[in-house]
Amino acid sequence: MKKTVLVTGASRGIGRAIATVFARNNYNVMINYFKSEREALTLEQELKQQGCTVAVYQADVTQRTQVAAMIVESEKIFGSVDVLINNAGISQFKLFTEISDEDWELMLATHLKGMFNCCQEVLPQMIQRKKGKIINIASIWGMVGASCEVHYSTAKAGMIGFTKALAKELGPSGIQVNCIAPGIIDTDMNKGLDETEKSQLLEEIPLQRFGKPEEIAALAFYLASPEADFITGQVLSPNGGFVI
Ligand code: NAP
Repeated sequence: MKKTVLVTGASRGIGRAIATVFARNNYNVMINYFKSEREALTLEQELKQQGCTVAVYQADVTQRTQVAAMIVESEKIFGSVDVLINNAGISQFKLFTEISDEDWELMLATHLKGMFNCCQEVLPQMIQRKKGKIINIASIWGMVGASCEVHYSTAKAGMIGFTKALAKELGPSGIQVNCIAPGIIDTDMNKGLDETEKSQLLEEIPLQRFGKPEEIAALAFYLASPEADFITGQVLSPNGGFVI
């Protein structure tokens, strides 16, 4: 039977690549987006034209009622959610002393409350079936910290702690929870970097390039597969050797 994956923040970047790889490999895919409706609908159309089974749902992951409605809709259309990928994210560069209360709250809400909401809404069904996979997209900055990204680094470190704790709690229920902590990936999130900043970063990456969204998608697809059934509570970091 076809499995279903729900990918948050799948309108652009890494989430879009994840939705695409799962759809092309015989999964039903629920494409979640927040603001980028045109991009999400284009992705839906492209994948449908390729014979994939996909649907689109607009929801702000920080809002519990919207997330709950999205999960109900996914289960109504596809029968279940077998794999949840918490990918939705935002970034912001600011000196710590200039981070406002609103900046801090939005950063934590998007990554932590969003992940909390989605996990709480999908888990009752997964626990009942004694099967399921959750993959959280954190960042190397959650492992080593980034200057001028204290709130982002805090949120991503929180995702790592959450993954480890939940993996321990859900192991006996047959559910794997893992984390991918990418290095610098070529998406809109890094489009604000100027050429000097890019070359400074490249100098620190042994493989001398940024990653591609498809490389993160391939790892997510592997973690969702039965071949990865013995992997849980882990943080896998495709980063070109930036952090070793
Ligand atoms: P991106 O291209 O900017 O895309 C971000 C995605 O998140 C968009 O689809 C956006 O949806 C969605 N999103 C943001 N807030 C949302 C909300 N409240 N509810 C639902 N969706 C929301 O970024 P990306 O580079 O693909 O990043 C994806 C994930 O990887 C993020 O968690 C990011 O922190 C992480 N990451 C990225 C890098 C990197 O170098 N790019 C490195 C490490 C980790 P809309 O556009 O529809 O609003």
